[in-house]
Amino acid sequence: MAPLERLRFPVESTRGRRYPEASHPYRGEFQRDRDRLVHARAFRRLEDKTQVFPAGLSDHFRNRLTHTIEVTQLARTVAQRLGLNEELSEALALGHDFGHPPFAHSGEEELNAQLARHGSFFNHNLHGLRIVEHFEQRYAMFPGLNLTFEVREGLVKHSMDFEPGEYPELDDYLPGQRPPLEAQLIDLADEIAYNTADLDDGHSAGMFTRDDIAAAVPAYAAIHETVEMQFPGAPEKVRFLEALRGLIDFLVGGLIEGTWRAAEASGAANVEDVRRHRPRLACLRGDAATATGELKQFLHTHVYNAPQLQAERERARALIAQLFQLYESEPQRMPEPYASQARSEASWRVACDYIAGMTDGYLHKTAAQLFRD
Ligand code: MG
Repeated sequence: MAPLERLRFPVESTRGRRYPEASHPYRGEFQRDRDRLVHARAFRRLEDKTQVFPAGLSDHFRNRLTHTIEVTQLARTVAQRLGLNEELSEALALGHDFGHPPFAHSGEEELNAQLARHGSFFNHNLHGLRIVEHFEQRYAMFPGLNLTFEVREGLVKHSMDFEPGEYPELDDYLPGQRPPLEAQLIDLADEIAYNTADLDDGHSAGMFTRDDIAAAVPAYAAIHETVEMQFPGAPEKVRFLEALRGLIDFLVGGLIEGTWRAAEASGAANVEDVRRHRPRLACLRGDAATATGELKQFLHTHVYNAPQLQAERERARALIAQLFQLYESEPQRMPEPYASQARSEASWRVACDYIAGMTDGYLHKTAAQLFRD
C-alpha cells in the first residue's frame, strides 16, 4: 500500500459543483475537471504567456504552457508515489497558472501597482478563480466551468493560506484550513519545475556556467561530479542535462520523502487532520529544502536580476501601465463585452480583467494599434 493512502482525498467525498450536474458514465468528477481545464481558452493562452524568458529569444525556452505540463507530470508522480489522488493533483497542476497576467511577474507587479491607486490589489490566484468561475463561457446551463469545490479550493489555496475575513470573496473556501495534500504539493512541484527549468534555460542562454552552479549549490556539485566521472566523453551540454536530470530526481525524491515523514510525524489519520494541521504537511526533506534555497538565490543573481531581463521587464511594465491608464480613462476603447461592462462597473476593475487575460502577443499587438502615432 502506498504510504499516504489514508490521506488521499476520495473523489466520492467531494463537496460537489456549484450547479449540480448528473455524473458522467465513465469519467470521475476530477477527471471531468481536468478535461474542462484543458479545453478552456485560458489554458491555450498559456502558450503565449512568458514564464521567465520572453518569447522570441529562443525556440527552446519554456513558456507558461510547457511549464504547466512540467508541473503536471511532477505532481502526478509525487501523488502517485504517495498514494494520493493523482487526478485531483493533475487537474490542479493544469490550472495552477490560469490567473497569470501577460509578462509574468512584471505584469503582476504593474497590475498590482495600478490597482493600488484604487485601494485594491492584483492576486493571480484570485484572478484564476474569477476565470474559471465567470470568464470562461462555454456551457449553456451555467457560467464558468462549474468545477468541483476541491479543484476551485485548490486553485486559490495551492500557494497561499488565508484566515476568515482576510479575503471576503473566499469565505466559502474554508478559510483557516489547509487544502488537501493533493493541492499542497502543487506549490512545491511548481517550485521544483521552475527552478530546474530556469537553470536549464539560463544555462542555454549563456548566463552562467556549470561551475558557477556547482560553487553555489553543493547538492548540484555532488551530482555534477558523478556525471563527470560517468560520462567524461559526452558533450558538455549533455553532461549538464544529465546533472540537471539528477537534480530534478533529488528534489522530487525530497518532496516525496519530506511529505511522507511530516505526515507520519503529525499523526494525521485522514484528510480532516491534514486540513487542520496548521503548518502544511507537504514539504521538502531538509537537504532538498537547503538546495532549493541556494538555487533560488543563484537564479535571482544570475537570471532574474540579469540586465537583459531587467530591461525587458521595465519595457513590459511601462506598456501595461500605458494600456491600463488608457482603458481606465477611455473604457469605450475596450472591445465588447468589456466596454459595456465598464458602464456599470469601475473602469479600472474591467481594464484589469481585460489586460490580465491577454497573452503577451495580444498585448503587444493591441498596444501597437492604439499607440501607433
Ligand atoms: Mg507555475
